[in-house]
Amino acid sequence: MSRPASGRCLCGAVRFTARDLGGFGVCHCSQCQRWSGGPFLGVTVTRDDMRIEAGADSIATRRTSEWASRSRCGDCGSPLWYRFDRGEDGAGDYEVPVGLLDDANGLQLRREIFVDAKPDCFDFAGDHPRLTRAETLALYGAG
Ligand SMILES: [Zn+2]
Ligand SMILES: [Zn+2]
Repeated sequence: MSRPASGRCLCGAVRFTARDLGGFGVCHCSQCQRWSGGPFLGVTVTRDDMRIEAGADSIATRRTSEWASRSRCGDCGSPLWYRFDRGEDGAGDYEVPVGLLDDANGLQLRREIFVDAKPDCFDFAGDHPRLTRAETLALYGAG
């Protein structure tokens, strides 16, 4: 079942659409916490499905590890996406913050990762896998 979506940053300079959203997960790693201001709630948009409709010139991308990059809007600062690119600029699927979507209702939380980096002051409800750092690294080969 396809799940078309549209979204934008806070100022609206960067706009995107996708034909089909993938899974929605939560990352508690320390980088995501600092980057997004809390747990990173990301929904997957495949590389082929992402359509940047406006604001390509406003996208500021920074390599944040040997295997991933993170982008934000250079105008308003909104986090735009994380890409597990394995070190190749512009590669990899997009993990888009749920908060950028015009309608994020109905998404299903598939998994949490790096749960041992989560502060103890909140929890996500539901019966889904909760992977520790070691389990996350074993699954993805990187963080
Ligand atoms: Zn913006
Ligand atoms: Zn993370």
